[in-house]
Amino acid sequence: MRKILVTGGCGYIGSHTVVDLNDNGFQAISADNFSNSYRKITEGISDLIGKPHQNYDVDLCDLDTTERIFQENPDIEAVIHFAAYIYVPESVTNPIRYYRNNLNNLLNVLECCVKYNVSNFIFSSSCAVYGDAEDLPVTENTPFGEAECSYARTKQMGELIIRDFCYANPSFNAVLLRYFNPAGSHESSKIGEAPILENTHLVPIITEVASGHREKMAVYGTDYPTRDGSCIRDYIHVMDLAHAHTKAVDFLKEGRNDSNCEVFNLGIGNGVTVLEAIQAFEKINQVKLNYTLGERRAGDIAAIYANPTRAQEILNWTPKRNIEDIVKSAWDWERNKDWLIQ
Ligand code: UDP
Repeated sequence: MRKILVTGGCGYIGSHTVVDLNDNGFQAISADNFSNSYRKITEGISDLIGKPHQNYDVDLCDLDTTERIFQENPDIEAVIHFAAYIYVPESVTNPIRYYRNNLNNLLNVLECCVKYNVSNFIFSSSCAVYGDAEDLPVTENTPFGEAECSYARTKQMGELIIRDFCYANPSFNAVLLRYFNPAGSHESSKIGEAPILENTHLVPIITEVASGHREKMAVYGTDYPTRDGSCIRDYIHVMDLAHAHTKAVDFLKEGRNDSNCEVFNLGIGNGVTVLEAIQAFEKINQVKLNYTLGERRAGDIAAIYANPTRAQEILNWTPKRNIEDIVKSAWDWERNKDWLIQ
């Protein structure tokens, strides 16, 4: 079986990707130190893949421990690198922690790839690299914008490091995947979004308010220049997003890349406002949400959504789910996840 190393493979997007890889005939092993995920999530993953999930509980900022994974697995064909700190507010107050972790673990994994002849690499990037882009939808040619926070800057820097690395190593192939707003969960509700730190993203906040785990929520700003005044984002179902990684592995393995560092936007190309997301949740799930219309949140941009044509045409990736599927699966997960966090 073709073996893939998924760093951060017990996190939100990582765990869904492990399952999608398995569904498509790959053997996915992970390296995850549970810095922001529950250990028990491996039970959900194992259940879905039908065998015990193999995870290395290691800190990838330590080069020797990272090397051991490659030494013990000489048959790794590709690395998908998710492992990173992802909290925007924390990255603003503690930038050094973010640079230290997100850049050091990337450097260590890249170094091991060359040393152990792993020539296929997929990087978890973000639409945050575009900053507050003027022309929407953004394409892969939209230039980097001013980063809104240190987290976003670690993604910009990560991409630049990989570019330099690809230039210096012509036989090394990378794909940079820029995610828009991942949300929702696996349809089985056996895995889903379950960070240890407090949720700051819209969809899990909606489900936590609906379940009573959170008292109330606010729509952050209703005076933006959008169709209803609230911010527009491109919400992408986590299973569609996960599948794009499997497609990216196929793309590299089949040698279909024109250059050795390719970039793809992963969104559905449809902007949804905060109020529309709330309405979709209420309608599909028949649950009333306790929310208020609040002030803008610092650092938010009015609107961003993808032009996903390149990923659709070149990776042959077609997202199948929409905002209704997202809020339905997120709500199913919210009502099923107590076993995980007890
Ligand atoms: N948002 C909101 N209330 C919340 C959380 C988020 O109105 O309690 C809005 C936020 O202002 C943004 C959108 O929902 O316009 C998506 O926010 P999220 O943090 O999920 O993603 P990001 O800001 O990274 O795009």
